[in-house]
Amino acid sequence: MKYASAALLGLFLAAAFTTADANNGKGIPGDADLRFAQLETLLPTAGTTRTASGAPGAQYWQQRADYRIKVKLDEQRHRLIASQSITYMNRSPDTLAYIWLQLDQNIFKDDSISRRSEVAANSGTRRDSVGKGDSLSFAAMRRHQAFQDREYGYEIGPVSDAAGRVLRTTVNDTMMRIDLPQPLRPGTSIEIRFDWEANIVNEAAIGARGGYEYFEDSDTYQYFVAQWFPRLVAYTDYTGWQHKQFLGRGEFTLEFGDYDIELTVPADHIVASTGELQNPEAVLTATQRERLKRAATAKSPVFIVTPEEAKANEKEGTDRTRTWRFKAQNVRDFAWASSRKYIWDAMGYRQNDAARPFVMAMSFYPNEGEPIWSKYSTHSVIHTMEVYSRLSFPYPYPVAISVNSWERGGMEYPMITFNGYRPTADEKTGKLTYSRNTKYGLIGVIIHEVGHIYFPMVVNSDERQWTWMDEGLNTFLEYIAELEWEEKFPAFGDKTNVLDAITTYMQSSDQVPIMTNSESIVQFGPNAYSKPAAALSVLREVVMGRELFDHAFREYANRWKFKRPTPADFFRTMEDASGVDLDWFWRGWFYGTDHVDVAVGDIREYQVSSQDPDVEFPLKRAEYARDWPDSYSQKLNKAEGRSTRLDRYPELKDFYNENDPFVVTNKDRNEYREFLEKLKPWEKATFERAVKAGEFVYFVDFQNVGGLVTPLPLTISYADGSSEEYLIPAEVWRYNAVEVTKLFIRDKRITSIELDRNHLIADADKTNNVTPRRIAQSRVELFRAKDSGRNQMLDALAELKTKGKSGDEGKAEEKALPLAPAQP
Ligand SMILES: [Zn+2]
Repeated sequence: MKYASAALLGLFLAAAFTTADANNGKGIPGDADLRFAQLETLLPTAGTTRTASGAPGAQYWQQRADYRIKVKLDEQRHRLIASQSITYMNRSPDTLAYIWLQLDQNIFKDDSISRRSEVAANSGTRRDSVGKGDSLSFAAMRRHQAFQDREYGYEIGPVSDAAGRVLRTTVNDTMMRIDLPQPLRPGTSIEIRFDWEANIVNEAAIGARGGYEYFEDSDTYQYFVAQWFPRLVAYTDYTGWQHKQFLGRGEFTLEFGDYDIELTVPADHIVASTGELQNPEAVLTATQRERLKRAATAKSPVFIVTPEEAKANEKEGTDRTRTWRFKAQNVRDFAWASSRKYIWDAMGYRQNDAARPFVMAMSFYPNEGEPIWSKYSTHSVIHTMEVYSRLSFPYPYPVAISVNSWERGGMEYPMITFNGYRPTADEKTGKLTYSRNTKYGLIGVIIHEVGHIYFPMVVNSDERQWTWMDEGLNTFLEYIAELEWEEKFPAFGDKTNVLDAITTYMQSSDQVPIMTNSESIVQFGPNAYSKPAAALSVLREVVMGRELFDHAFREYANRWKFKRPTPADFFRTMEDASGVDLDWFWRGWFYGTDHVDVAVGDIREYQVSSQDPDVEFPLKRAEYARDWPDSYSQKLNKAEGRSTRLDRYPELKDFYNENDPFVVTNKDRNEYREFLEKLKPWEKATFERAVKAGEFVYFVDFQNVGGLVTPLPLTISYADGSSEEYLIPAEVWRYNAVEVTKLFIRDKRITSIELDRNHLIADADKTNNVTPRRIAQSRVELFRAKDSGRNQMLDALAELKTKGKSGDEGKAEEKALPLAPAQP
C-alpha cells in the first residue's frame, strides 16, 4: 500500500460508515422530519372537482359571462359613456339568489376602502432612517390634488333583466350585489342590462392600471382603458363568490366569456383592442387594409400607420366619431387603447397548430417611443409566443398586441398588453438616447406582459388571492425567453442569472412566504416575481432536470388552460406528471422564508489500513511526528546549546531509549496474523482488494446555514488536474436538516470541493462554498476624506443666479417636496 501523508483508516471501522452519516453526535437533527413531511395537511382536500393528481376532476365546473357593450369615449371630458348587457350562465351545481359585479373604478372614490386604508409608506412618503424625519414626494402631492379636482368611480343607472324588470342592487365598495327576481338554478342563465358613465383617470397623476396619458409638448392624449366596465365577480368551487375587495394590488379574478364591443371614438383615432376587428372597411383606409394584408406574410414588421402619418395625424383634432367593433371569444377580460398619436406596425406569426395557425402580432405607439418601438416591440411579441408556446400550448387567440402606454412598467389583458419604456430626449439639443436599462426593460416588459396572455389570461389562476401563480410562473418563463433572445441578456438589472438576483432578498429579515395573499405581501417584487422564478429555475435545472420538468409544466398548462387552477393543482400536477416527490421543495421555497446557504465544512482524508504492523507502524510514526512535534521549548533549549542529562550521563539509557512506541513486536505480528485468520472469506476478499486498490476515502461535512434544504451541486477537483461534477439530491438532508457528512471514495486524491460553482441553487454566501477556502480577490480604491460642514460665511458671498438651472437630468428617483414643521 502506498502511503501519502494521509491518515489511516482501519477497515474495522466499516460499521461506522453507516452511522457516522447523520447523527455523529455533533449535529442536532433539526426539524428535518417537518421539512420532508408531506403537504397533505396544508393542501385542500382533493375530490371530484379537483383531483389528488392536480387535474380538473370529473365534476369540474366554472361559470361563464358574455358581454355586449357600446361605449363612447368623450375626449373633451376624459369620460366613458356606456350601455352594457351581461349574460351570466350558472354552470355551478348551486342555486344563486344574487350575483355580484366588480366595480373596479370605485377604487378611486374618496371613500373607497383602498384609499382610506392606504398607509403613509405607500402614498409617496418615506421616513428618513438617518433621522431627518418625514418627507413627501411631488408625485404624492400631485396625486392628492388630482383626487381633489375630479370625481371618480361609476355612475350606474338602473339594472334590469331582459324583460325590463328593474333589479335591486347594493353597492359594497368595489362590488355590487344584484338580487335576482328568482334564484338562478344550475344550468340556467340570466341577462342583465344597465347604463353607466365614469371619468377616466390621469394615470401619471393617480397611478392605475389604465387611464389617459397627456403629452405636454404636443398637447395630445392617449387612452389605454382597462378595468373599465363592471365585470362579473368570479364564483368558484373553492371560495364561492370572490369576496376580496379590489384594494389595488391583488389583481383580478375573472370568468371566461365572449365579448361584442362597440367603441365610439374620435374619427382620427387609431384603436388597439382585445378581439378581432369586425368592420375594417368602416374604420381603416384602403391603404391601411392593404398594408395589413401584406404584414400577414411579411418577414419583418410592416407599418400600417407610419411614424410620419402618425405625426401628421396628431396635429389637429376632430368632432366626428367612428365606431370600431371588436369581437372576442373565450376571454376573461377586455381592454383597449385609442389615440390619434399611434404609429401601428404588424407582422404575421405562423404557428404549428391546426386550430390557430395564424396570429397577427401588432404594436401601437406614439412617436415618443421611437426609434426603439418599431425596432423591438413586434419582434418581442412574436418571440414570446415562440418560446411560451413551446413550453405550454399554442397561442390561442388571433391577435397579440403591445401598446406603448406609459414610461415604464406594463400590464396585461387578453390579446393586448400595455407596456412602458421610451427613449429620452435631451432637454437642450433634443437628441434621442436610451439607456441599456430602457432597451432591455422594453424587450423584457413586452415578453412579460405578452407572456401573461398565457398565464393568467388563459391559465386562469386567481390573481386576487395568489400573485405568484401568474407573476412567478410568468417571470420564470419570461426569464427563459430572455435567455433565448440573446446571450447575456440582463434579465435582472445588471444580473443575467435569476439565482444571483434573489439571494439578497432571501437573506432579508422582513419576509413572508410566497404562499401569502396578494394584499399582504411585503417586498412584493422579489416575493411574487423573482423568488418563484428562482425556485422554478432550481426545479427545472437541478432538482427535476429539463425533461421531467418541461413535461410536467406543459401538463399543468394544458390541464388548466381556460380553467381555474389553485396552488394545490400546480403543486400536485408537477409531482404527478414527473414522479418526483416535491413536497419538501414546496415547503421550503413556497411556505417558508429560509434562504439557501450551505457551507462546505471539514474534509477528512483516509486510505484503508493494511493493519500489517511492519507496514503501518512506520507510517504511524511519521504521522505522529507530523501531528505532535517536539515541545518548542526543547527546540529553544537545543538552540541555546543546553545539553540534557541523558547527553551527559549516557549510562541512563535503556530499552525505551532504543525503541520508540512504534517499534514492531512479535505480539503485534501474531495479532495481525490472527486478525487475517479470523476474517470470513468475503471479508478477506474485500479487505485485500481495498488495501491493494489504495483508494482515498473522504468524509466531507456540510452545514446548512440558511436552513432551506437544497440539492448540492459539487465540483470536485483532483490532484491530477481533472474535475468532476457531482449532484447530491436534497434528500440527503432528510435525517438531519442542519448538518450532514457525506462519504466519497475516489481512486485519486481530491484537492478541493466547491459547492454551486455554476450558480444553480441561489446559495447566498459563496465564501463558505469551497474547501480549502479561497482568498477573495478584487481591487480597492483609495478615497479622500470630505469636509461636509456648511460654511455659511462662504455661502453668503455666492452670487445670486438669475435663471434656474436644471440639475440631475434623467434621474428616475422621486423628488421630495420640502416639508417644514407646521407653524402653531
Ligand atoms: Zn406581471
